[in-house]
Amino acid sequence: MFWFRKDLRIQDNEGLTAAIKQASATEGKKLYAIYDFNTDLVSQLEGIREHSLYESIRSLDISLNGNLGLIHSNKTKTFPKQIVDVAIQNEVSIIFAMESFDPEGRKLQEEVRSALMAKGIELRLVGSAYAVLPGVVSKPDGGNYRVYSPFYRAWVQLVRDKAFTADLNLVKLIKISNSQDLPKPQKQSPIKVIAGEAFALRTLARFKERGLDSYDEDRNRADLSGTSHLSHALAHGEIHPRTILRELGDSPAHEVFRKEIAWREFYADVLFHYPNTLMDYYEPKYKKLRYDTGAKAQTRFEAWCKGETGFPMVDAGMRQLLAEGWMHNRVRMIVASFLVKDLHLEWTLGAEHFEKHLSDFDPASNSHGWQWTAGCGTDASPYYRIFNPILQGLKFDPNGDYVRKYIPELSHLGGASAHEPWEIFDGYANGYPIQIVDHSTERNGSLARLEEIKQKV
Ligand code: FAD
Repeated sequence: MFWFRKDLRIQDNEGLTAAIKQASATEGKKLYAIYDFNTDLVSQLEGIREHSLYESIRSLDISLNGNLGLIHSNKTKTFPKQIVDVAIQNEVSIIFAMESFDPEGRKLQEEVRSALMAKGIELRLVGSAYAVLPGVVSKPDGGNYRVYSPFYRAWVQLVRDKAFTADLNLVKLIKISNSQDLPKPQKQSPIKVIAGEAFALRTLARFKERGLDSYDEDRNRADLSGTSHLSHALAHGEIHPRTILRELGDSPAHEVFRKEIAWREFYADVLFHYPNTLMDYYEPKYKKLRYDTGAKAQTRFEAWCKGETGFPMVDAGMRQLLAEGWMHNRVRMIVASFLVKDLHLEWTLGAEHFEKHLSDFDPASNSHGWQWTAGCGTDASPYYRIFNPILQGLKFDPNGDYVRKYIPELSHLGGASAHEPWEIFDGYANGYPIQIVDHSTERNGSLARLEEIKQKV
């Protein structure tokens, strides 16, 4: 039996290839494929995220000729017991699955492993969602890297991008006897979502043709489609990073792109070594920083969530998230910095909001992307480096196209003036909100709060 997890694809799937090899060597060549649809988890997702998961599973089922067996688990009727029952009912002796490295995935696979073991069934974990397994890249003294650049230099030496060919013709795929239906999404999605392995491969081909060679120059521009948009496919495992890395050469643009793939692997490695940092501070001293709470803080948080802060680049990003379930990386950094350093709210609030909405949600990249920007995470971004949301907008959306696309109230302002409606006579004519805070006052406030914890240490 093969248990699909965050590896919703057939090709270049190491675990599935191993399961096929094992099954094809048995007399009946039977292979079952299952997926655990966690109804409690799915009920917490916003529309686009829910629809994208639904589409990914539906597309996988099509690739398996309708033979994907579904188990509905929830908090009361938990998956470990259900998978044991399914394995016994279908006389399965080994269950193959991809190994998870994030805290929840690790906990689940250990629970499943011990439940199966009690019945004499083996759980065999093969492969991962990474080009190099988290925990493998280590310093010469055996410790793990806490800084990205040396991690990257060691990681790139360890990457093996040989493909795994999963040939389903070698086995007889059979649907488990009491498979449940894939529930239709409960929430509305503002957009029609397209997902699945074939779409992921098309996205890669398109990016290679149109964006990869200029990635180093365009990737920070929010107004251009200069990035790969592969994050959803990577998060659901519709594509493996190996498949992407094989397409890269040695040009500067390709090297910059390889480094971005490595950021994902770095954060997975960091979370593997420090599982508490999923929702806890990587640098604990920042937990002591004075954050705002109470009604005023809540009102500001809500304005941030809705994209109504009065800062065009922040609002455009937050509205892009609600409209598309995705946000440009540069803008993720701008909105995250604004939440923590202009509104003085804890990064965890923002990370939870992202988790509900991002169709590419990834526990390691999200928690550590937030912590890096908030200044309490790994290397590179010290707390006192505070993004100016207006200057960032002018630099990374120089013609104002990005903000106008997501903020109709600014559509009457031409060019870069959309970033500064307060400088234009009729800038607020269409009801765009005025700024909820003053950036330079809040910047100074943040630096003062930093001084307070420095004195405490
Ligand atoms: P590209 O620029 O084309 O990059 C290719 C791939 O490299 C991405 O798909 C992604 O897998 C990886 N990558 C690129 N940049 C980063 C980065 N900074 N950190 C880690 N991996 C990276 N990414 C997620 O996949 N899921 C998240 O939940 C997530 N949350 C984030 C939260 C914050 C506050 C920040 C600042 C960043 C977050 N990122 C997250 C990283 C990054 O923003 C997205 O991976 C990227 O915007 C996805 O778009 P793309 O596929 O076009 O990226």
